[in-house]
Amino acid sequence: MYPSQFRYHRPSTLTEAFQLAAKLDGQVKFLAGGHSLIPMMKLRLAAPDHLIDLSGIDELKGIRVDQHISIGAMTTHWQVQSSQLLRERHPVISKVGGVIADPLVRNRGTIGGSLSHADPSADYPALMLALQGKMRCRDQGGEREVSADDWFLGLMTTVLREGEILTGVRIALPPPGFGAGYAKHLHPASRFALAGVAVALTLEPDGRCTAARVGLTGLAITAARAEVLEHALTGVQLNAKVVDDAANYVVDGVDVGGGFQVGLEDKCDLFRATARVAIRDAVKAAAPSYFADGFYPGDIRAVDIEGIGPLRNHVNQG
Ligand SMILES: Cc1cc2nc3c(=O)[nH]c(=O)nc-3n(C[C@H](O)[C@H](O)[C@H](O)COP(=O)(O)OP(=O)(O)OC[C@H]3O[C@@H](n4cnc5c(N)ncnc54)[C@H](O)[C@@H]3O)c2cc1C
Repeated sequence: MYPSQFRYHRPSTLTEAFQLAAKLDGQVKFLAGGHSLIPMMKLRLAAPDHLIDLSGIDELKGIRVDQHISIGAMTTHWQVQSSQLLRERHPVISKVGGVIADPLVRNRGTIGGSLSHADPSADYPALMLALQGKMRCRDQGGEREVSADDWFLGLMTTVLREGEILTGVRIALPPPGFGAGYAKHLHPASRFALAGVAVALTLEPDGRCTAARVGLTGLAITAARAEVLEHALTGVQLNAKVVDDAANYVVDGVDVGGGFQVGLEDKCDLFRATARVAIRDAVKAAAPSYFADGFYPGDIRAVDIEGIGPLRNHVNQG
């Protein structure tokens, strides 16, 4: 299929992009990596009159660490995946960049495009919920920052206003005792998440959890928090048995969507298994010595827990 006719524009500054958007007649869409927008245009699910390509705007690119981690909206998945800075300062972010789709998509797709598009099975949305990320948006009237909790409104719908550009995301640096994990059971063809769970924990050295945030993708019509699971993890000492039990709550209280490629019960089971992997990875990152010495109670052998190996293999692909 071919898209309907459109005019293409490539500004080199944000100011120029806003001026263009304000003066053009008809529907205007911003183009980032094009890996969601172009397919939609080819299917005629989107038919903008004008495309404003953001790829020439340098101020939207790059990864910076000062008091926070700032990632420009036009930073590609590959740049996130391969960033040494992120690997050292907040490894789960680069890990998630690396499990998106395949190298072709990762080379062009952007974090800003993914968060603006808000596909219900995309990976960054769940991560942003777990990490309490902030989205920075700008239009001609000025700048605002929106927390991930307030960002997603409905199916592929965010609070972004007409003519507003997501300029980047801001994520707090991990506090002491922090650890995060992301596990994903991917669709074998598209590699979108059939079940994706992002977990951010803060642990005492003895494994007691003082804070937990869990973001899910692939379950509801938007990325969603697993608040019942967060509650089950908070205030208790996490060991393999506690984590297994708590993971059973991952879908509880979530407004589950529909139209899945697997049955609802299988979907929920997939989430429970995926949650176990993600929580365990977060515990390991937060309290490595505790994970090595105290996480597995005497009556549970590590091998039992590792029995969900195929999931881990999926996660590590990419
Ligand atoms: C085969 C395939 C497999 C995929 N698998 C996965 C996967 O496993 N996990 C996953 O998370 N994603 C997956 N994706 C989606 C991919 O990550 C896209 O790159 C992403 O969803 C959109 O980013 P983009 O930069 O390509 O944005 P575009 O397609 O250019 O734009 C998407 C939408 O966001 C708007 N937009 C883009 N940037 C901005 C901005 N800065 N400000 C305001 N609006 C903006 C556009 O106007 C458009 O409406 C897959 C895509 C394909 C084609």
